[in-house]
Amino acid sequence: MSETSMLEVRGLVAGYGAAPVLREVDLTIPRGAITAVLGANGAGKTTLLRTLSGLLKPTAGRIVFDGQDLRGAKVEHLVRRGLAHVPQGRGVVAELTVEENLRLGGLWRGDAAGLRRDVAEAYETFPALARRRKHSGHQLSGGERQMLALARALVGRPRLLLLDEPSLGLAPRVTAQIMALLRRLRDASGLTVLLVEQNVRGALSVADDGVVMSLGRIAVTASAERLRDDAALRHAYLGF
Ligand code: ATP
Repeated sequence: MSETSMLEVRGLVAGYGAAPVLREVDLTIPRGAITAVLGANGAGKTTLLRTLSGLLKPTAGRIVFDGQDLRGAKVEHLVRRGLAHVPQGRGVVAELTVEENLRLGGLWRGDAAGLRRDVAEAYETFPALARRRKHSGHQLSGGERQMLALARALVGRPRLLLLDEPSLGLAPRVTAQIMALLRRLRDASGLTVLLVEQNVRGALSVADDGVVMSLGRIAVTASAERLRDDAALRHAYLGF
């Protein structure tokens, strides 16, 4: 395993029934970079994130996160090791308030002062959440819930953030703020991000690298710059 990679995936097979969705995925995610995961509907992007975060058990293959084999690791252990997963359109406890959701995100840290600071910082980053701090999850709009899910993950101080379609249901202005935030976190604290996005152009404008999934495999791995600029590659794999 390379010194610089945050995640090494080899021969990963996973799915929901008899037929696998992920068919021997090989992937190396560099440390401190944003990698966009692209591909058509049904290619297996969400399934990949669910398998990496331990929600779905692989039937074959290896996942090495920061030098440690994740075989058999429980989801809570992965969180403690710095892996956060923000699922598509979910990840918020509807019965709890915004404040409670944020605190929950860092509860495991056992560092009350640090947690208070990080919750305050989350409100600075997402003023819309500060205005709704006493509201429960189910009183929030889809966009606010999406913001809360991301803010809650960040309060847990992850080193690897798996983000499934963060732009879903958000105004373009808010999406742009989130993308800028990801870059700031990458630069300031070396955060590694795996970003699944339908909005290919948006994802490639923020990412350092891109992987394109097709039929449960990684079809292409390239720098985001190359995926943006190489028309033949774009036509062949991204359809524009
Ligand atoms: P999308 O952008 O549409 O979410 P995706 O690339 O994320 O696409 P997945 O959601 O991983 O793709 O889906 C891959 C395949 O797995 C699809 O054929 C889908 O129908 C199937 N699938 C996804 N979730 C389930 C599930 N809970 N049970 C059974 N099959 C599923």
